[in-house]
Amino acid sequence: MSSASKPKHDLRSAWGKACPKCGWAEALTVTITCSALLSIDGTEAHGDHEWEHSSDCCCDKCGHNGVVSDFLVSESEEVSP
Ligand SMILES: [Zn+2]
Repeated sequence: MSSASKPKHDLRSAWGKACPKCGWAEALTVTITCSALLSIDGTEAHGDHEWEHSSDCCCDKCGHNGVVSDFLVSESEEVSP
């Protein structure tokens, strides 16, 4: 029997992020911005991609939509599923 315990490393421990609605902390979809070089051949992404607290964020589990800052949780603050 495998236990249903939470993984030690999830978004809550790594980034302090979890879904405020369902508590999901394994995968969140974040909209990133990325620079691209436009040439006659088209665009080629370069540089680092960026995301910030105002970036769109979506829970992969329940589909809750918001911005990254909405998904911030403190380590001591448990979000009940
Ligand atoms: Zn959720």
